[in-house]
Amino acid sequence: MSGHSYDVIVAGVGGMGSAACWHLAQRGQRVLGLERFDLGHGMGSSHGMTRIIRLAYFEGTQYVPMVRRAHELWAETGKKAGLDLLHVTGSIDIAPEGAGFVESSQRSCLDHGLVHEMLSRDEIMRRFPAFRLPEGQIGLWQPDGGFVASERAIYAHVGLAQAAGAVIRTNEPVLEWSTTAHGGVKVVTDKGTYTAGRLVLTSGAWMDTLNPALAPHLRTVKQAIGWYSVKNPEPFRMGRLPVFILTVEEGNFYGFPLWEHPGFKLGGPHFGREPIDPSQPDRTPSPRQVQFLKDALERYFPDATGEALALKGCIYTVTPDEHFVIDTMPGAEQVAFASCCSGHGYKFASVIGEIMADISITGKTRFDLAPFRLARFAGAGRA
Ligand SMILES: Cc1cc2nc3c(=O)[nH]c(=O)nc-3n(C[C@H](O)[C@H](O)[C@H](O)COP(=O)(O)OP(=O)(O)OC[C@H]3O[C@@H](n4cnc5c(N)ncnc54)[C@H](O)[C@@H]3O)c2cc1C
Repeated sequence: MSGHSYDVIVAGVGGMGSAACWHLAQRGQRVLGLERFDLGHGMGSSHGMTRIIRLAYFEGTQYVPMVRRAHELWAETGKKAGLDLLHVTGSIDIAPEGAGFVESSQRSCLDHGLVHEMLSRDEIMRRFPAFRLPEGQIGLWQPDGGFVASERAIYAHVGLAQAAGAVIRTNEPVLEWSTTAHGGVKVVTDKGTYTAGRLVLTSGAWMDTLNPALAPHLRTVKQAIGWYSVKNPEPFRMGRLPVFILTVEEGNFYGFPLWEHPGFKLGGPHFGREPIDPSQPDRTPSPRQVQFLKDALERYFPDATGEALALKGCIYTVTPDEHFVIDTMPGAEQVAFASCCSGHGYKFASVIGEIMADISITGKTRFDLAPFRLARFAGAGRA
């Protein structure tokens, strides 16, 4: 790769891109990370302090090997950076019996030998008194789940990457890229032109602008999260409340124990999505989204109030089947991409960074990426 300014350029230094920069740099690659905004900004998909990590994975048992490695990496990277990135609280998935969510989580535990426990509605409310649940709910408890400090993890990855020699340039969006005659890439920003042997695209909600092959298959939608005052903090404190996904008739809500930011953090409903154009600056949750959260607090969390201390909007980049896309570009194997994680990707950012480094350096990874190939979408380019 001599003659290039860098071995690898990473376009988009958010959740996934920051991890890619670190994994590449620690393996001796000359890395340039280019980020559209400030580091840890609030315009993309990774802000809001925390993201749930669940090993019991109702979205599909195929994710479990990757999420296990992600869990390991969050702990390892936190130690290296001297920052608490991973907080293990246990996780609970709660849903009506027979709705399929809890049953799928249980399937992933059984397939992969994960410790877990099935709980009745009464048992859930006895152990975790923050909840008031409707009849017919059941839960799956898994002790290794928890949350990742999401912006902090971006800072940790970037700090480590820089210490290993990576160059990170913020407020410098990639405008375009092309392949070169010698099998490398040329990347153009408003400040310069760079060349490299490889390119990693981790541009999240802006992936369509850099990856035309993927563009027809992506939708960007706005999601709401809030931090709410509580009448009684005890049932919400760390050690008392696990991270959770709560499926009720209104949709899937998710929440966290009290941590750093005052207030009980509740998000959702997961499928209550509203289209958003990422290039427009407003991220304010809609009144409808705010009302959904307020109603859920009133119904299901008797010790919380509907008083929001903070509300934020954030973007999901959703694929047609809601599964990830992790692949190389049809006709340009030197370009790898990951993102578009349909609202459940952050927990994997650590391992996706590692996978991007593996693919860029060796052309392969130990994980089975077959379920995540672009070609599964009709007309996506490669068989
Ligand atoms: C409200 C909400 C709650 C969520 N909860 C969870 C959860 O609990 N657990 C979980 O696992 N997942 C969760 N997710 C999903 C998860 O957060 C996302 O899948 C993840 O953050 C995506 O990471 P990313 O690196 O793809 O995107 P980002 O972190 O947004 O990074 C993309 C980066 O690329 C930059 N960029 C874009 N275009 C360019 C360009 N042309 N040049 C340079 N830079 C560019 C952007 O500025 C951005 O910084 C949630 C998402 C939201 C919105």
